[in-house]
Amino acid sequence: MLKGKLLDELNEQIKYELYSSQLYLAMAAYCYSIDLDGFAHFFIVQAEEEKFHGMKIFNFINDMDADILIQGMDNPPTEFDSIEHVLENSLEHEKFVTGRIYFLMDIAMEEKEHATISFLKWFIDEQVEEEATFKTLIQKLKRAQGDVSVVYNLDETLSTRTFTPPPQA
Ligand code: MG
Repeated sequence: MLKGKLLDELNEQIKYELYSSQLYLAMAAYCYSIDLDGFAHFFIVQAEEEKFHGMKIFNFINDMDADILIQGMDNPPTEFDSIEHVLENSLEHEKFVTGRIYFLMDIAMEEKEHATISFLKWFIDEQVEEEATFKTLIQKLKRAQGDVSVVYNLDETLSTRTFTPPPQA
């Protein structure tokens, strides 16, 4: 039975995932403003993925016959200094989300809520990938040392990113 603190925190997590989606759209808008359309596309796809994460929890709570709660959050930041700054912020944000998922898992384990433990494992694996994606991009830009041709090549590569929700969603 999903209830009490665990249910409250899962509902909170829907909020954080949807906020992540808003944050990445704000970053996409910034990328367009500095003519990095490939990075903008990458962040739009990232935003779709975050909405999918939120919906995954939404559907899980419903499957568990518990009450879904949709809540609002503050506006995401709109001002960034550079693409490097955007990526550093993204990595920091993903680390925060990883911490949230671990926190949820700790509660689920304390409560011996096995269905939720199983459900959260997917998110733990997903966070490893999310952090790795941003770390790789940060590294690539660092190695480019401001070489514009490397930045534009990366921008071109990122313009092809796609997202297809897994069939079990
Ligand atoms: Mg997420």
